[in-house]
Formats: sequence, structure tokens, C-alpha cells
Amino acid sequence: MAVRKKQAKVCRICHRVVEGDACVMCGSSNLSEDWAGYLVIIDPRHSDIAKKVGIDTPGRYALKVR
Ligand SMILES: [Zn+2]
Repeated sequence: MAVRKKQAKVCRICHRVVEGDACVMCGSSNLSEDWAGYLVIIDPRHSDIAKKVGIDTPGRYALKVR
């Protein structure tokens, strides 16, 4: 995967990939660096994966967060 996994953190609440110290989606600072499955959602309304995971906002997400 061409993802800078070491730098990237993922919000444990909504699974969004976070650049800073807090999630821009839910404001949570409950972040994890131990995640798998990079997911880019561009159009949640027309994405089966987005519906399955419960994502309704475009962005970058992780499928599994530990
Ligand atoms: Zn979040």
C-alpha cells in the first residue's frame, strides 16, 4: 500500500484518517496508529462500501481500527 501508515492516525470513533491530534469529523482525540484497510470515500451515496461501513461523509477512512 502506498500509504504513509506510520504518520497516519485513525479516529477510533468514526474510523476517519486524521492528520492532526483530533478528528475533524467528531472532534475525538481517541486516535489509533494500529489500523488496517485504507478506504477512500468520494461519493458515499453511491458507494456500497460506504453504506456497509456506515460512512456518510467523503474522506479517507480505515476499515479496521484496533
Ligand atoms: Zn472521528
